[in-house]
Amino acid sequence: MSSFLDSRLEALEAYVPGEQPDDREYIKLNANESPYPPSPGVLRAVSALAGRMNLYPDAACRGLKAALARRYGVGPENVMVTAGSDDILNFCFLGLCRHGVAYPAVSYGFYEVFSQLHGVDRREIPMGPGLTIDIAAWEGLGRTVVLANPNAQTGIALPLADIERIVAANAGELVVVDEAYVDFGAESAAKLLGKYENLLVVRTFSKSRSLAGARLGFALGEAGLIADLERIKYSTNPYSVSMLSLAAGEAALAEDSYYAEKCAIIAEEREKLKLELEKLGFSSTPSMANFLLSRPPEGVGAEELFLELRRRGILLRYFAGGALADYLRITVGSPEQNEALLRELRGALEGGKRT
Ligand code: PMP
Repeated sequence: MSSFLDSRLEALEAYVPGEQPDDREYIKLNANESPYPPSPGVLRAVSALAGRMNLYPDAACRGLKAALARRYGVGPENVMVTAGSDDILNFCFLGLCRHGVAYPAVSYGFYEVFSQLHGVDRREIPMGPGLTIDIAAWEGLGRTVVLANPNAQTGIALPLADIERIVAANAGELVVVDEAYVDFGAESAAKLLGKYENLLVVRTFSKSRSLAGARLGFALGEAGLIADLERIKYSTNPYSVSMLSLAAGEAALAEDSYYAEKCAIIAEEREKLKLELEKLGFSSTPSMANFLLSRPPEGVGAEELFLELRRRGILLRYFAGGALADYLRITVGSPEQNEALLRELRGALEGGKRT
């Protein structure tokens, strides 16, 4: 730490992203990325624009906003586009948590980091049995509500009726539904948008649309709410979304069936992987996302297994020292990657040599 840091930030504990090591080739099942490349039209659109990078992008993101508005049945004034959905979440914590924030005790680690960064009073709502969201605990919270659905780390999804109950039971407060993983089998709250002014749906191109590297996120909400978020964006970095990412997003939306097919494969692979893991003695949460949260068999330490798999060239995510210390979070990969994972897991559990 230098002597220049604002004392307000001295205790800030930064978010630790999933590692991206470059010491060797790994099978990456640690950051919930898509195993599939972007669709062909995205590659064409991005290459066509590379020579125009001397110019700034369209700060208003009009083309992509119009395409998203058509896709989700809202007006362009109901859409916000940012550099990844982390940006939108950041803006929410920065400017839309006037009475503090509530989020699940087990969820996306950034919620705590953003609370600390912006000095927002936070309330972590305890989980129900089996790391579920107990919706009875989510009524009349008197503060901004941030809920990932499916929830981060567990993958467990609430049905739309429960989300609606939470939105209705917190009228007068903003309810942010973070739908980073919704396209793998859960129901989007976007359907409720016309009905509730206090709902903001946050989405990303990082998972279901194979564009984690492009950094592209968006939010859908009531026009006044979107205008507030735009005001914050224009007060930080109006050009945060690159022209390549804007073009990639538009092209991806034009090829939605490519991504729908990949999401269906991933959802199918998730269920197969879950069953195979069960045969090895793992138990997993009922995930509707592109990952599993799995507890290794009795007597096998999650951290030891994580390290052994790393030695074998497979990266998983391990969260030390909290409610998830006995679990591994496993991104669902391609069929070949999942096969390799199971092979190495069998080897590791038998204490066998690398196969
Ligand atoms: N929300 C949740 C629940 C996430 O897991 C992630 C990705 N780790 C994000 C938001 C951020 O995604 P991105 O910034 O890539 O859009």
